[in-house]
Amino acid sequence: MVYDSEGGTDVSIAESRVANLCAITLPRVVGTTYYGLIGPCGGHTRDYHFHRGFGCLYQQSGGHSTAVGNIAQWKLYGKWEDFTNAKLPLLDACGAHFGPTPDSNGAIVYHYHVQEKAPFAAGCHGPTADGKLVSVAACRALYPGNSFHGKQCSGTPVQLETGPGSTKTPYLRFCPCWDADGSNVGTKELPALSTTDISYTDPKGNKETVIPGSKGSTVKPSSGTKASTGGASGAIAQGSSMSYLAVFAALATLHAHVA
Ligand SMILES: [Zn+2]
Repeated sequence: MVYDSEGGTDVSIAESRVANLCAITLPRVVGTTYYGLIGPCGGHTRDYHFHRGFGCLYQQSGGHSTAVGNIAQWKLYGKWEDFTNAKLPLLDACGAHFGPTPDSNGAIVYHYHVQEKAPFAAGCHGPTADGKLVSVAACRALYPGNSFHGKQCSGTPVQLETGPGSTKTPYLRFCPCWDADGSNVGTKELPALSTTDISYTDPKGNKETVIPGSKGSTVKPSSGTKASTGGASGAIAQGSSMSYLAVFAALATLHAHVA
């Protein structure tokens, strides 16, 4: 049993810690069984909700991914800016950018993208009051801390064991703002803030991105404690949009608007 009484960490960090403490690999696929803290579609439980991925809600094909949900007045799309050309979106600290979408009739609109790394869907509600991308610092300023969630994006980071030996990752619990290095402590600004480009080429290409268990795969979710999809992919109408904002990782669902 691995238990974190304090919470406030994202699913990837939590998975790394469990894998390290239990000396196992997570996530992994053995035969046709997917093992992970959450299921291959990025969600879990019978009252199904997502923590990351959303890979079963959009096609890994074509150009810009289709919408999978709404975040306030803006839409959330799958991970690809252009699947055919293996282009991933350059995103701000909220997880969004400006560009045309499949349903904007050519208009440039602010929109979110699913990411394979935290915040996975959204770290905050953008854009800024003057209509710009949200910086790492601006995102963190939205989470100065409160009595319930402690320091959030300020204060002293904890050191989480995420690898063998003395490998530790500094982390601010309940802080949903990650920098260009994938740290919610570091301050390296995101590349989207200093370019007019809205996408970049995925160095991994677009060939190995289908999440096991999602469309086109024969991998089945396992049952029991090691994986918890509970047949979730079948519970969601493929290609449908969710009308609610998913719960992201174990992070606070508190999302503040950029003032
Ligand atoms: Zn986009």
